[in-house]
Amino acid sequence: DESRSKHFITQAIDADLAAGKASGVFTRFPPEPNGYLHIGHAKSICLNFGLANQYDGTCNLRFDDTNPSKEETEYVESIMDDVRWLGFQWDNLHYASDYFDQLYTWAEKLITEGHAYVCDLSSEETRTYRGSLTEPGKDSPYRKRSPEENLDLFRRMKAGEFADGARTLRAKIDMASPNINLRDPVMYRIMRAHHHRTGDKWCLYPMYDWAHGQSDSIEGITFSICTLEFENHRPLYDWYCKSLGIHHPRQIEFARLNLTYTVMSKRKLLQLVKENHVNGWDDPRMPTISGLRRRGYTPESIRNFCADIGVAKFNSTIDVVRLENAIREHLNAVAPRRMAVLDPIKLTITNWPEGQVEMMSATNNPEDPEAGSREIPFSGTLWIEKEDFQEEAPRKFFRLKKGGDVRLRAGYIIDCHDCVKDAEGNVTEILCTYDPETKSGEDKSGRKVKGTIHWVSAEHAVPITVRNYDRLFNVENPDVTDEGQSFLDHINPDSLSEITGLAEPALAESAIGDRVQFERLGYYVVDPDSEAADSIVFNRIVPLRDSWGK
Ligand code: ATP
Ligand code: MG
Ligand code: MG
Repeated sequence: DESRSKHFITQAIDADLAAGKASGVFTRFPPEPNGYLHIGHAKSICLNFGLANQYDGTCNLRFDDTNPSKEETEYVESIMDDVRWLGFQWDNLHYASDYFDQLYTWAEKLITEGHAYVCDLSSEETRTYRGSLTEPGKDSPYRKRSPEENLDLFRRMKAGEFADGARTLRAKIDMASPNINLRDPVMYRIMRAHHHRTGDKWCLYPMYDWAHGQSDSIEGITFSICTLEFENHRPLYDWYCKSLGIHHPRQIEFARLNLTYTVMSKRKLLQLVKENHVNGWDDPRMPTISGLRRRGYTPESIRNFCADIGVAKFNSTIDVVRLENAIREHLNAVAPRRMAVLDPIKLTITNWPEGQVEMMSATNNPEDPEAGSREIPFSGTLWIEKEDFQEEAPRKFFRLKKGGDVRLRAGYIIDCHDCVKDAEGNVTEILCTYDPETKSGEDKSGRKVKGTIHWVSAEHAVPITVRNYDRLFNVENPDVTDEGQSFLDHINPDSLSEITGLAEPALAESAIGDRVQFERLGYYVVDPDSEAADSIVFNRIVPLRDSWGK
């Protein structure tokens, strides 16, 4: 059960609750609205909302919108949609930008108390002065400014008296600290940029570290859960809260999700979209939540996947097969079975009474008795898959061959006696007889056949458009490249093939978002493009079995 998981974070929470260090479990999911959410974010969402559920606490959605140059309202909307679609509802909705006034007031407090100063070094100089892992930092020549002078300069920074980048506000901590984050980190930079919520009110924007912990604190967050890259930032998180004497949440880090055969950085995802390597953020090949949704993934399958991979303290890469198996498992239980032929060849039943149509009963889902059955028309002219027939086949080929027999799913056993070929020797039609004693469900013939194949009646079949999606990259880790190459060089040129297939009539009634199993082929979902297209468009979610590289 996903909501009852035990791991190092729940152990830490249990200990803090028992010791009275925390009054409850108040978490938040804090995306920066600079792109669409991806499957990695889903892990963080499931964790933060999951913990709040598990401990009867609360979880906020907070937009970490402190960097106006990259943020847009479109992203805000999509993030809310995605969180809801995953099955979670935030207790409160917040924006870090709502705290700009409070943050500014706190900055003045730190200045007054001698814990922050205005620095005139350029960003280049600031970097040099901060030193490196092997080299201690050097004090800025502006470090000794008096609180009065700092306050005056800071107010004038806010008033717009100085150019972008001319000055910063820095916390006065320790230029010799082994942790570079503590070497007088920048708190504010001057940047004239229009903000999606505060407009042009500010020309001064807070840095991530200065905004993040204080936002947590304002909201009364007790457990601030983030990814491992922030482990080195924790001393700074703690320093800010302590120096201000405000409510102090506990930051806990966990390993971010990495997945094979995809990229997850928003910068790279944005590049895929902007350069049209995919058709938008919700392209079914994207690892975004909206892409997975359009691909046909269910929220349950993503939540199950996140529960299955668990929470750890060390980075690792998860095989994408585990994500694919999660959707297979869910759809195996709930998706109705349908028949569709995607690479058709004609099959004629030579002893079928001319013009006769018989309705065959077919089980909708063998895994779910309540799903019932449907009727499928059967006639003397059918389509089957080309690859289900071989004129001369090896002994182990259990589909149809000349002189062999096979069962038609929900139909009869047929015997193949001949085939018709064109001038080049390609088979164009298969000739069979059916055995009237072998109707599915009523078979008393005692005949045993090794194979069962799917089919559709030619006269009744409906054409459908099928988009067979595959992995977007053809290597396990597209981020690893040779010199002079980029992740784009690993794009799989065959990640989408669009074909026309022939489907049983029931599929003509499909609605957008319906998910089905095409028997023996895979799971498919009806794409929103169906609305405007001449035929229904089906996206392949996953093939029935992992066939990558085979
Ligand atoms: P990028 O670095 O690509 O911009 P990000 O990590 O900065 O992504 P945010 O919007 O800041 O994206 O992330 C919101 C929350 O989701 C953060 O708490 C972050 O730790 C978490 N998160 C982001 N990516 C992953 C991932 N791959 N696995 C788990 N959690 C993640
Ligand atoms: Mg980011
Ligand atoms: Mg981030």
